Amino acid sequence: MTITINGHEPGLELIEELKATRDLSDARLKALLSADADIDAPMFAAADQKRREIYGDEVYLRGLIEFTNFCKNDCYYCGIRRSNGKADRYRLSDDEILSCCREGYALGYRTFVLQGGEDPYYTDDRVCDIVSRIHGLYPDCAITLSIGEKAKESYQAFFDAGAARYLLRHETASPEHYARLHPKSMSLANRKRCLYDLKDIGYQVGAGFMVGSPFQTPDDLLADIRFLQDLRPEMIGIGPYLRHAETPFYAFDNGSFPLTLRLLAMLRLMFPYALIPATTALGTIHPQGRELGLKAGANVVMPNLSPVGVRKLYDLYENKICTGEEAGQCRGCLERRVNSAGYRVVSAIGNALKEPAAAGIE
Ligand code: SAM
Repeated sequence: MTITINGHEPGLELIEELKATRDLSDARLKALLSADADIDAPMFAAADQKRREIYGDEVYLRGLIEFTNFCKNDCYYCGIRRSNGKADRYRLSDDEILSCCREGYALGYRTFVLQGGEDPYYTDDRVCDIVSRIHGLYPDCAITLSIGEKAKESYQAFFDAGAARYLLRHETASPEHYARLHPKSMSLANRKRCLYDLKDIGYQVGAGFMVGSPFQTPDDLLADIRFLQDLRPEMIGIGPYLRHAETPFYAFDNGSFPLTLRLLAMLRLMFPYALIPATTALGTIHPQGRELGLKAGANVVMPNLSPVGVRKLYDLYENKICTGEEAGQCRGCLERRVNSAGYRVVSAIGNALKEPAAAGIE
């Protein structure tokens, strides 16, 4: 079969080159990004082969606890931004968070992800307190934080309290694009500083970006890929940008589902050892989004463990899925979905595997 990219580049050769060298020139990466849809089947097959080589058919679970939707930031794309006066704000108490963990543990989760807006109520002491309580109760579990930009000392304190992983998407690695998505009070330089600080402390770090966010260009996506190559995060989270009526971006269309899948496959080929989630946003934009994400190279799913009463309130974008189900139902539903895609959910802590060479030096 001959697959050409936009009538000239030999498509299959590019996939083979990406698989073998984990890198391509800027021009070739952009050619893959803009190639016609017939590149997708061989690209997804190559990505799936690569993930099976390293992670087999295992899919790791992360139990997501969305513990506050208060946020001091005003990101133009996000439904829980400070200026959304219509958002119904909530915070979970420590007991509610611990009860999510208890339920999650019984359901086989061995990673808890505490995610929230940047909520000043959660001082470093409060965060450390809840982290160390969870760590004390569930020493065999990983605690992941996803609570935004902090000082290095704060990250260190959370780490010392027992948090081992941190998710902080860089959102876009182009400073100009970053400035179009965020108010002046936020900067890409600080976002990157946070990510390198987290790495330096010893966290397993997750970075990532939205696909199809307003004003995004192919050069921005290229910058994202190059930044990820520099940072070398353990986890890479990408998902389509999805609109929310109560943001300044209400008139922009959602990101592209096919482009998100293609990027996911490219990232699997470039970062074979990375943990790559099939995100909730992927499941929101397409009914089989997470299954197709797994088939394109993803190996993590993040079911919701938050109490059903608050799920709808963690309203980052419209029509977010899994807002009406109990934790147990979510777990069962995801397991069926993972199985139907040809993979297997495992109840494991699910650390990123280290490359043989890297594992030898450490
Ligand atoms: N406050 C933390 C932070 O900044 O990392 C964590 C919470 S934040 C809401 C989690 C992620 O949601 C962001 O990194 C962003 O990529 C994603 N997100 C926010 N609004 C979105 C939208 N409209 N469409 C898709 N993803 C969105």
